[in-house]
Amino acid sequence: MLIVKATQPLNDNQIDPAANLRALREELKGALAEAGRKAGAVEITAVTKTHDADHILPVLEMGHRVFGENRVQEAQAKWPALREKFDHLELRLIGPLQSNKAKEAVALFDVIETVDRPKIARVLTEEMQAQGRSLDLFVQVNTGEEPQKAGIAPADTDAFIAQCREEFNLEIKGLMCIPPAAEDPAPHFALLAKIAARNNISALSMGMSADYLKAAQLGATHIRVGSGIFGARGERSHAVG
Ligand SMILES: *Cc1c(COP(=O)(O)O)cnc(C)c1O
Repeated sequence: MLIVKATQPLNDNQIDPAANLRALREELKGALAEAGRKAGAVEITAVTKTHDADHILPVLEMGHRVFGENRVQEAQAKWPALREKFDHLELRLIGPLQSNKAKEAVALFDVIETVDRPKIARVLTEEMQAQGRSLDLFVQVNTGEEPQKAGIAPADTDAFIAQCREEFNLEIKGLMCIPPAAEDPAPHFALLAKIAARNNISALSMGMSADYLKAAQLGATHIRVGSGIFGARGERSHAVG
């Protein structure tokens, strides 16, 4: 007799990503209506890190086109083949970027959400010029000021955005944050929205599987949902940066 413990994580074969995404869209629609925001005000980034192409396909086949990955190398192994099959994909880098990977990142991604220091801003400027590509850039803010987490400190964010604009001539499209796991995310979302408003930035990438409804209430324009669509990540998953 096969005994499956209820607490055991489901494997990829037992998960229906398309059904999960449909349910997520409905839930989001309800939350937006309740918050008095327009339907469609929040874009869902389906986070596919650690999941292989077979598991992502149902979501592509239902027409979803916006995806997030947190590692350049993993994305490189997975997405070029999928881009050949599906038009109008938007690939967003949501993990920390090392400058020695900037060239590959600029070639592969459409959006980089993790610009967080002058060196990476400079290298991205140079790479976009060299490759004739123009990516949308978001600044990652370390709202919880966690030493192990990427992102610029809240107190340094205004000056960094100004530097990106003036010194590197970069347009900063949005801000992104990952609140501390053990804290109420609401004050972090509110802080990100406040920093964005005073810098005339309209896009806010905030909210993950556990807290995207709260983020949608507090002004997110992009939520990043992984496990809520594709199921729990296994051994290959890494701590978010
Ligand atoms: C993995 C990851 C997510 C998705 O997390 P879930 O909790 O699985 O929805 C969102 N943002 C970043 C930066 C991530 O690395």
